[in-house]
Amino acid sequence: AKDKGRNAYQFYNHKMGVLVEERAEIEHALHQALAQGELELHYQPKVNLVSGKIYGMEALLRWRRPGIGLVPPDRFIPLAEETGMIIAIGEWVLRTACAQLGVWHAYGFAHLTMAVNVSARQFRQVDMPQLVRAVLADCGVPAHCLELELTESVLMQNRDLVVRALEQLKEIGVTLALDDFGTGYSSLSYLKQFPIDVVKIDQSFIHDVTDSVDGASLTRSIIAMAKSLHLATVAEGVETEGQLGFLNTNHCDAMQGYYFSRPLPGAEMDLMLYAGTRL
Ligand code: C2E
Ligand code: CA
Ligand code: CA
Ligand code: CA
Repeated sequence: AKDKGRNAYQFYNHKMGVLVEERAEIEHALHQALAQGELELHYQPKVNLVSGKIYGMEALLRWRRPGIGLVPPDRFIPLAEETGMIIAIGEWVLRTACAQLGVWHAYGFAHLTMAVNVSARQFRQVDMPQLVRAVLADCGVPAHCLELELTESVLMQNRDLVVRALEQLKEIGVTLALDDFGTGYSSLSYLKQFPIDVVKIDQSFIHDVTDSVDGASLTRSIIAMAKSLHLATVAEGVETEGQLGFLNTNHCDAMQGYYFSRPLPGAEMDLMLYAGTRL
């Protein structure tokens, strides 16, 4: 729900109260971005809380717009979803992320996983199992190293179609993660009817664990509930040592956040991997 209503608005300059750019212009520019290589992926490490080691990455999309700079995904993904351009962009993301994973595997980081965010519209319009199978084969990476991050909105559309696609993806061997958990309306026990492996606890919960008793008990119960349903837990948006301590105490499985690393371009992530950074 927090993603709604942002679409057209963000193209207004709030300070000046003027329409900065027409939607059609941005749409045109986004087409060009894909064709001319202005899109790039940054990678944020996921760290196992027991070993303290990086076990995987999440690919996060950015648009390096000439004359403007690096545009974050919240500024253009809603438009890409509305216009359907997310189909082509989503395929580019999947291919680019898996190709990067193939390179890291070849460098010797063969244990690494790669997580890719997938929009609801992709599940409606694309045969995701077929696409995933093709991309994995092209990049030579094993299916169990690919994780797809889905939001509740993916699960709430055409249920039969989505369940079939998710079951096929599980047969291929892909890992499925539920993103932004806690921000939607469904309980974990309801969502468990979908073949999900991992729950990513939304950063709004993590933010609260050290400054409110309620925030702490809420997160504690999400972790406990996930464990009882045999789901792995990943905390998002971990920024402080206090939050990390809380997660360790409460046996969360993994974490991601600025406390360990911001999302970085592939070349910078190479350096971090070679340095063997640990939490
Ligand atoms: P998300 O999947 O929930 O990704 C987490 C967001 O939190 C990322 O923002 C990440 O940079 C940010 N983040 C990570 N650690 C911290 C932290 O410690 N503190 C704070 N405050 N933020 C942190 P980003 O990269 O701007 O992405 C925003 C959203 O855009 C993503 O949320 C995801 O929903 C969407 N997105 C990004 N890449 C793609 C993509 O390739 N395809 C699709 N469909 N959506 C994408
Ligand atoms: Ca995500
Ligand atoms: Ca998230
Ligand atoms: Ca999000």
